[in-house]
Amino acid sequence: MDFNEIFNYVSEGIKWVSLGGIVYSGAIIGCYIYDGTLFHKKIESSKELEKIVKEEAKKLGLDSTKIDARYNYENKYFAQKNGDRYYLHLANSWEATRNTVKHELYHILKDCNRKNTFFYEKFIAEPRAILYGTFGIKI
Ligand SMILES: [Zn+2]
Repeated sequence: MDFNEIFNYVSEGIKWVSLGGIVYSGAIIGCYIYDGTLFHKKIESSKELEKIVKEEAKKLGLDSTKIDARYNYENKYFAQKNGDRYYLHLANSWEATRNTVKHELYHILKDCNRKNTFFYEKFIAEPRAILYGTFGIKI
């Protein structure tokens, strides 16, 4: 195997890995945008958020009495475990939809009870929560 042959393999490999990365990132960004667009009703109050968290937690078999839903607290959205309770924060933004709540509840179900690495977050936790939040697919 000469240098040119190795170079061709490496450049072909880089091309396919890059293409895969672009497709992967595009799919994730596409789902985020789809979840937050005009096809989905925006959540506009704490009361509405609490009602949706209760409904969606039940569908996943989660105990909604252990989830503290906070609307527009610190202008962030995320799910987090704190002792034996969970926080679900939803910012008042274009992403404040039922699909985002479903996404964060799926993190509570699958990811909040374990220690997560960067690769677990990016390649398992996030795509899995997106699949459930956007399409309702449980894996
Ligand atoms: Zn997520």
